[in-house]
Amino acid sequence: MVSRVIPVDVFDLVVFGGTGDLARRKIIPALYRRFRAGQMIEGSRVIGSARSDFDTESYRAFVAEAIDEFIADHASETVAAFLKSVHFVKLDATGKEGWADLAKLMRKDVVQAFYFSVAPSLFGALAERLESHKIATADSRIVVEKPFGRDLASAKELNATLEAHFDEHQIYRIDHYLGKETVQNLMAVRFGNVLFEPLWNALFVDHVQITVAETVGVGGRGAYYDRSGAMRDMVQNHLMQLLCLIAMEPPARFEPDAVRDEKLKVIRALDPVRHDQIVRGQYKADGEQQGYLEDVEHPDSLTESFIALKVHVSNWRWKGTPFYLRTGKRLKARMSEIVVAFKPTPHSIFDEEAGSKTNVLTIRLQPNEGINLRVTIKEPGPGGMRLVDVPLDMTFADALGPVAREIPDAYERLIMDVIRGNQTLFMRGDEVEAAWAWTDPIIESWTSRGSRPHPYDPGTTGPEDSLMLLHRDGRRWREIEDYGTD
Ligand code: NAD
Repeated sequence: MVSRVIPVDVFDLVVFGGTGDLARRKIIPALYRRFRAGQMIEGSRVIGSARSDFDTESYRAFVAEAIDEFIADHASETVAAFLKSVHFVKLDATGKEGWADLAKLMRKDVVQAFYFSVAPSLFGALAERLESHKIATADSRIVVEKPFGRDLASAKELNATLEAHFDEHQIYRIDHYLGKETVQNLMAVRFGNVLFEPLWNALFVDHVQITVAETVGVGGRGAYYDRSGAMRDMVQNHLMQLLCLIAMEPPARFEPDAVRDEKLKVIRALDPVRHDQIVRGQYKADGEQQGYLEDVEHPDSLTESFIALKVHVSNWRWKGTPFYLRTGKRLKARMSEIVVAFKPTPHSIFDEEAGSKTNVLTIRLQPNEGINLRVTIKEPGPGGMRLVDVPLDMTFADALGPVAREIPDAYERLIMDVIRGNQTLFMRGDEVEAAWAWTDPIIESWTSRGSRPHPYDPGTTGPEDSLMLLHRDGRRWREIEDYGTD
């Protein structure tokens, strides 16, 4: 199978914050890969912009270094060709300097996109100047990164700031989880097959688990992270988006607003979460590394580096099926997966010795993206009927060969979607606000009680109490395991 590359229209993409960490690690490598694949065609330009003292020549050297560092196999001729499309404009988001230069450089007859890879406090200044310097057009797109606020009030403020200068159809709020191949495959599996959808409800699904586990601690982001915590940093956005894609009704068409309308309905159907359905944790120190409290330099911090929650979606489809969410740092392995655990058969025709198994659909986001369905069969051989469950494995790298090995990074797909003008995989303003409206009371419930996160050992699955969250319902988390690399 050969993957098809459909080139996008010629574009000017301005990366505000073009010398920052996100630009270096994600945006530049993503653009280079799309250039190499032939999707970004001649004539398109990447315009880095920042306050830093660069010009086009030195910025090209910066871009070449980023490619060197983050892309293992790159040919020097391709890099040289890509660099010709790279430019730099020095400007201050909050000042006057540089804006006239940017206005002069931009073309009105190509797709224009502006990536706000800067702190959210600068979004307003950038949006305002793009309008007042008549740089943006009615068709320009702006791309913004999380965090979209830290509660409902600040999210509303941020949305209002952007919407004062751009229409909603121009605003692309990135959640890179939505750019992952498997996440889109989840929609293909659900809505492209007749097999799953009739079973996709509380009658047949026992429960759903969503796990995003990291092995790293907060690292150098301690001060930032401590103001946020796992609930704000991961659950309100990434885990919530995954939950929406599992729980949503089939949209009439695979179109941006049709999909986002359905996701929004899920968020609005989420029950408030009682405090006994929440477990929070903080990683301890081990022999080699500091604990959370030392990492954030705040010995009394009550911020969580781990959270597990039991969530209910109150609608006809899901009433009674719990969704268990968990995410944390310094855990046993790095992995993100969704588990849809089906109920047992209504009646077993086999005797007790045969045992019983249930179907489990696992959607692995990282590492080693793929989908796995466990089905029950007879254990081969004589000796009577004994049931075993075996995996029907759709690890993309095995099933699809070279195409899967070329799975684009989430940023590659999402940036190309911006240029194509397709908002399906981006969050709409009302979705973000609805997610905060659900999150705020949860955070408030532990803040008002001054509750302290449970310390947990690094390299484990988090606090013991998170196991109890399922045990007391007669269920178990799937193991947090290392599934290889990606
Ligand atoms: P960074 O601090 O590394 O880079 C910030 C960039 O903004 C630099 O290029 C800097 O020169 C520029 N800048 C700062 N003030 C400016 C001003 N007044 N005028 C013009 N340019 C200015 O930050 P980052 O890690 O690249 O993150 C950028 C944004 O993306 C932040 O909002 C961050 O929360 C978000 N984000 C980053 C990551 C990541 O992996 N780094 C992940 C998700 C979201």
